[in-house]
Amino acid sequence: MTGWDRVPQRSGLAWLASWRVIVAVLVSVLAAGVAGVLSLQQQIQIRAVGEAVLSARVVSSLVVARNITIANIAAGTVSEASKADMDADVAKLVEHHELSGLEVWSLRTGVLVYADAGHSQDETIMPVDELTRARSGRVFTQVTDDGGRAGNSLDVFLPYDADGDGSAEAVVEALQPRDPIEGTITRSTRILYGAAALVVVLAAVGLMLLRRRQHAHEYAATHDGLTDVGNRSQLARAAAAAFAERHDPQRIGLLLLDLDRFKEVNDTLGHHAGDDLLIAVAGRLRGACRHTDTVVRLGGDEFAVLTPSIGNANEAASLAQNILDALHQPIALGDLLVEVGGSIGAAIAPDHGEDLQTLLRCADVAMYDAKRHGGGVLIYDAATDPRESGQLTMLAELRKGITEGQLRLYYQPKASITGSISQVEALVRWQHPRRGLLMPADFIPLAERTSLIKPLTSWVLTEAANQYARWLAAGHDLQVAVNVSPRCLTEELPNQILAAAGTARIPASRLQIEVTETAVMTDPDRARRVLQRLRAMGISVSIDDFGVGYTSLSYLTELPVDELKIDRRFIANMLNNDADEAIVRGIINLSRELGMRSLAEGVDSDLTWARLADLGCNDIQGFVLTPALPADDLLTWLTEWQGHTTATHAPGRPRGADM
Ligand code: C2E
Ligand code: MG
Ligand code: MG
Repeated sequence: MTGWDRVPQRSGLAWLASWRVIVAVLVSVLAAGVAGVLSLQQQIQIRAVGEAVLSARVVSSLVVARNITIANIAAGTVSEASKADMDADVAKLVEHHELSGLEVWSLRTGVLVYADAGHSQDETIMPVDELTRARSGRVFTQVTDDGGRAGNSLDVFLPYDADGDGSAEAVVEALQPRDPIEGTITRSTRILYGAAALVVVLAAVGLMLLRRRQHAHEYAATHDGLTDVGNRSQLARAAAAAFAERHDPQRIGLLLLDLDRFKEVNDTLGHHAGDDLLIAVAGRLRGACRHTDTVVRLGGDEFAVLTPSIGNANEAASLAQNILDALHQPIALGDLLVEVGGSIGAAIAPDHGEDLQTLLRCADVAMYDAKRHGGGVLIYDAATDPRESGQLTMLAELRKGITEGQLRLYYQPKASITGSISQVEALVRWQHPRRGLLMPADFIPLAERTSLIKPLTSWVLTEAANQYARWLAAGHDLQVAVNVSPRCLTEELPNQILAAAGTARIPASRLQIEVTETAVMTDPDRARRVLQRLRAMGISVSIDDFGVGYTSLSYLTELPVDELKIDRRFIANMLNNDADEAIVRGIINLSRELGMRSLAEGVDSDLTWARLADLGCNDIQGFVLTPALPADDLLTWLTEWQGHTTATHAPGRPRGADM
């Protein structure tokens, strides 16, 4: 599984942010709170009763034991003095709210032996149920809330052993005021409920904050900070959902958009303008898409659109065209109106791939092809995909061919308009072990779509430098031009050239570089930087196949270019086609105005050569001189050519070309 197939997981705490979980947590906290409060309430009650029993025991041992004897119990009465003493004690305790009343009953007869002044005169026999419980010999309590003399009270019944024989003869009933106990319980309960409510509220607020943070976090993780459209994670999610829900004959479309003039805006108007442009582009994209489509920025000026349910490739193409149309409307950046174009590559599932990774790769191949064709929309076509099986074999063979020395350099001379030769162009061939000598058209486009073009260019540079050195040793100073593909026009190139020249022990300035207009326009700023460095190294630069590409003339004036090579398509017909001749004349004049040389490619007749001389072209190249030849044959040809041109009527040399 690759990174693209992996749908990003939500972060570890994400589940906490769902409503259901929040409600469940709150209900649990509430239930736990109520259970806690009830249990604490019970504890408080038990403690309150315990305290009541303890204080009853104190009263029993201090007040009752001092006054009531076994004889009193048997007689069912106490002496006046003892009663007065007890009444006084009880009155004091009542005054301090530590007692509501005190009674002593005989266990045997149930007769009242002593009662404080507050006791009802009518009740002289202990109620049967109380007596029965008292006779069990255990301490017990009973709540009285009959609004009797003590109001609400907790009655504690204590067995009383008057003669110390180990068995009780009476029961002491100490009436404890209930209000303080209940007050304590109510207060504690209130505090507990308050605390529980606070916990619930805090938990609720905490969970809400967490939910909000989680949402913000998730949004940031799936969106592009600058343009607010989705990012790669969003694309992965949307694709996973689209693939899961897709049913035949539905299709999924993936569009990859690369802007044309973003770098230009960024560099000339500044990063702020660049940012504004990206924001505007994202807005246009959203406007051109349906709400079910996912628009994402993959980085830089690269955007993608996933359209989850389309009928066929044409629908993807028309969506792509809508997007380009929307982009072509000028965008306001401050006071300026800027027009941006773009190239869109489209891939369709399941036709081109059944996962996002494959679709992205296919859309990228299509986008790159669209760019090479000058923009617009292209649907992926396996026939142009270097990774498709047949081409894969060829790529593997080429890789091997480069390292095993199967490449050859042929050289085609460049002549001044008068026919003198001081430069040649190196043109690569591949001596394929089975298929024979292959021409660049058979393998260069393939190498250019992959990074294989880099080792290939490196080999060509080294071989060209070595060949220059060999010719020089043989007495011929032939400057060698090497073709450099767009992918190789990078900051590495000057160093590669230096390395090649160093190995061959020649000055780097004896090498020339030919780049196409596309190479320059793919990334004009980088091209300018690289070409400036080459210029500083004394290396001259030609724009190859000039006139068929998309060079912006304003760029041309800024680039350190030495020569324009007029594309052979114009040269081929210039004698029969006025428009082509006009273009040729135009390019010759343009190069003169810009201080560059003009070279006509593909000159295959003396007549064309003569016409070019009339138009003021500086140099020519073509079959009229010779097709490209192996190095040794080139020298033979050169000797022959020089012999001819010094003769009075040199073949292949136009009349009046001695200028
Ligand atoms: P190019 O650089 O424009 O090279 C000129 C091509 O035109 C050569 O084809 C040459 O044989 C052909 N040509 C020259 N004179 C005439 C003529 O009078 N009539 C006609 N019809 N054709 C003529 P070749 O050698 O097949 O090269 C084709 C292209 O392959 C080159 O175009 C160049 O873009 C590319 N190429 C060749 N060698 C290399 C290389 O080492 N590296 C890279 N990156 N590209 C290369
Ligand atoms: Mg060339
Ligand atoms: Mg050319």
